[in-house]
Amino acid sequence: MSTSEAYVIVGASVAGGRAAETLRQEGFDGKVILIGAEPDRPYERPPLSKDVLQGAASEDKVFLRPPEFYDEQGIELRLGATATRLNPSDRQVTLDIGERVRYDKLLIATGADVRRLNVPGIRLPGVHYLRTIQDARAIRDATGRSCRVVVIGAGFIGAEVAASCRVKGADVTVLEVLPVPLQRVLGDRIGELYARIHRDRGVDLRLGVGISEFRGSGRVEEILTSTGERIPCDVAVVGVGVQPATGWLEGSGLALQNGIIVDEFAATNLPDVFAAGDVANWWHPILGERLRVEHWENAQNQGIAAAKSMLGKSEAYAPVPYFWSDQYDLTLQYVGHASGQDEVIFRGNPDPRQLLAFYLRDGQLRAAIGVNRLKDINAVRRLMRNRTPVTREQLADEQIDLRKLGQR
Ligand SMILES: Cc1cc2nc3c(=O)[nH]c(=O)nc-3n(C[C@H](O)[C@H](O)[C@H](O)COP(=O)(O)OP(=O)(O)OC[C@H]3O[C@@H](n4cnc5c(N)ncnc54)[C@H](O)[C@@H]3O)c2cc1C
Repeated sequence: MSTSEAYVIVGASVAGGRAAETLRQEGFDGKVILIGAEPDRPYERPPLSKDVLQGAASEDKVFLRPPEFYDEQGIELRLGATATRLNPSDRQVTLDIGERVRYDKLLIATGADVRRLNVPGIRLPGVHYLRTIQDARAIRDATGRSCRVVVIGAGFIGAEVAASCRVKGADVTVLEVLPVPLQRVLGDRIGELYARIHRDRGVDLRLGVGISEFRGSGRVEEILTSTGERIPCDVAVVGVGVQPATGWLEGSGLALQNGIIVDEFAATNLPDVFAAGDVANWWHPILGERLRVEHWENAQNQGIAAAKSMLGKSEAYAPVPYFWSDQYDLTLQYVGHASGQDEVIFRGNPDPRQLLAFYLRDGQLRAAIGVNRLKDINAVRRLMRNRTPVTREQLADEQIDLRKLGQR
């Protein structure tokens, strides 16, 4: 495909990085410009709360590609540049470094920003959020054996930070306003198992407790909880969720609602403008509903799918959603899309170190969660992909091989 067109990607992380590579792999030989607010070339975030925080991995391993890759591929990187405005009528993106970039096609992959707390003392040194590699370096360097760490929020980021800090020998307290950890995604019964996992490993997990204030002279020294308790601390990490990074798109005419509204081809309501990854609220043609997924596999695969759509090679993007979370020696994997409110069926005993459970709605399998059950989760994923009908009894019975169910 010989062209002088410019394909511009805003957001240089997993979705944007993989999209840029895909444009080249698919033979696009026009300009590819990848714009990113962070100073670093595209990298993976999952290791940040795990190996990087624990100091167990060389940082080189987190990058998608070596530095020379982008020159070799003719991908123009504009790092440390934040897009501040989209003007679709003249096909331009304005950058904070005083530049305007013209696009023939545009992919928005600006991901998500951490939700910030608005409580007294939030700006004290020693209070951290975790989204970027710079955040991870700061938390890694500040935590160690016997350090008193308070984690605010027991969602996936909070739970992983708590686990990594325990692995480093820190004293860890977790505050969570909800009655169990991970409740929104996993529901009460699995959340209770995760409460046990953390408590068994020495985390002081306080549920139904929020934060009123960070206190300290010069740096954080103490946390005042919503129940009036005072918890001494050296380091605090806030993990209370994220929100799609769409502020710069207000007023552009782009349809926004819990992210950027796109169809199953990653196309927005504006001509030649696409979106993918954490920022995209997309129509899933098989599930028949909109999803905005905040997980790695979706960011990568939707980035690839969006690049193909930009090239006119559209295929409906309709995966069985998937994510994982590593805490201690436990790898949680989740396939499908359910709500914490759906019915839960355990396969065999609900042993938190080897768990397999299913979420059903109106008798239909919606999702499954496995802990250290890689083969079973792969089998369930196949069942869901092929839409193989399964009964409650088949799911609950350890004697029935899930792999064979799919082969019938
Ligand atoms: C600590 C951590 C651990 C995680 N662990 C897991 C895990 O175990 N399993 C899992 O499935 N998922 C995990 N995730 C989630 C996964 O990393 C995200 O789903 C994925 O990074 C989303 O990729 P993205 O490219 O859509 O967006 P992001 O990774 O959010 O990247 C968006 C990029 O766009 C840039 N940007 C934003 N606005 C602008 C702008 N206006 N102009 C220019 N650039 C801009 C941002 O700076 C950022 O670099 C984790 C996330 C974090 C933070």
